[in-house]
Amino acid sequence: MTTTAPDLRRDGVCAPRLLAGWFATGAPADRAAHAARYGPLPVADLRHRAGRAELTETVARAGLRGRGGGGFPTARKLIAVAAARGRPVVVANGCEGDPAGLKDRVLLEIAPHLVIDGIVLAAAAVRARDAVLCLGEGGLQVARIAGALAERSGTDPIDVRVTEVPHRYVASEESALARFLTRGDARPTMTPPRPAQRGVHGRPTLVDNVETLAHLALIARYGAEWYRGCGTAAAPGTTLVTIRGAVWKPGVYEVEYGMSLESVLDEAGGPAAPAGAVLVGGLGGAWLAPPFADVAFTPEDLRAAGAVGGGVAALAVLPRRACGVAETARVVRYLAAESARQCGPCMFGLPALADDMTDLAVGRGGPATLARLRQRLDVVPGRGACAHPDGAVAIVSSALRVFADDVERHVAGAPCSSAGLRPWLPVPGVGG
Ligand code: SF4
Repeated sequence: MTTTAPDLRRDGVCAPRLLAGWFATGAPADRAAHAARYGPLPVADLRHRAGRAELTETVARAGLRGRGGGGFPTARKLIAVAAARGRPVVVANGCEGDPAGLKDRVLLEIAPHLVIDGIVLAAAAVRARDAVLCLGEGGLQVARIAGALAERSGTDPIDVRVTEVPHRYVASEESALARFLTRGDARPTMTPPRPAQRGVHGRPTLVDNVETLAHLALIARYGAEWYRGCGTAAAPGTTLVTIRGAVWKPGVYEVEYGMSLESVLDEAGGPAAPAGAVLVGGLGGAWLAPPFADVAFTPEDLRAAGAVGGGVAALAVLPRRACGVAETARVVRYLAAESARQCGPCMFGLPALADDMTDLAVGRGGPATLARLRQRLDVVPGRGACAHPDGAVAIVSSALRVFADDVERHVAGAPCSSAGLRPWLPVPGVGG
């Protein structure tokens, strides 16, 4: 590889990789500072088939998986898109549709060149000549990316266009982005082929999360072994995570896979009040009950502990004095409103889940409501064109398990323990 690899560990802890520049200077990196820190972009070799194959092989050996929630192996996507018929296009996904997440926005703001490096490398790997960077609307990220692209003007082998995508929870799903860029409608498509075969304007489309691309830019420079120097065998490397709710220092952190969930929360100063639960994976994620010391922070370990749902990129701590039933009801009302209204189980099932949860939360629901809710949880999952309804089911199912005592009290008509307390989860337009 072309550059001396940065230190992996300091004081036994994995050093920041994506956020290294920010930790060193407290300022977003311009191109000169970025190049001084990470070294030149190793793109020249990718003009040849052997160089492209080597990059894909290196990404496979590094074990890089998508950081957008799905966790799909990145090398497999590269291979599929490169093998499809037609000239590919790369779509860098920085939309972050889940309101509980901020990590892509922060990455784009403070390390824009690392993301653009990843776009350029991924495009070269699949022989794309153009790429689109999709951002959520507004904010500093848009200006920072525009500034970074202006600094690189004429020096990259591909054109990178930026587009702002109107906010919608499901807009960051990959087929929704492909449809948005083709027809202006950011809703998931219901049938194959997937974007890797036929995406934007019918072209093979590589849709990768912006954090995934930033990791790819490091792997291309320093190699698979360096990348695997942090994390676990099954979940190598570091990952960005948004930590919010009842913690002392809410924010975005870069953490090593394999740390305990408790240690990850400690990065944000730890719980600011005794924790009742943590929501893992954003609003379409799942609740986990304490203790958190024995749960390893990897997608597999969190799933095994019960956190099925939206990946691991966002954590929200709920204090014990708050009401998980009321918080979950707010979330499900929001998720129901965010349905793209294309699939029956999603269009009708989510409002029904929301109604039942709301009835329980406000004391209108008795044992019959709870029984009906449990039945609905059995019939909704796996029947939408995208994973949106599954996320709603995950948070409700986990709430019934983790907040079983609260549920029992609500069913019995006892007053809600959180009456008068502020809501904790960032649910747009639903009381918080
Ligand atoms: S499951 Fe829901 S959000 Fe997903 S495509 Fe169908 S209607 Fe849209």
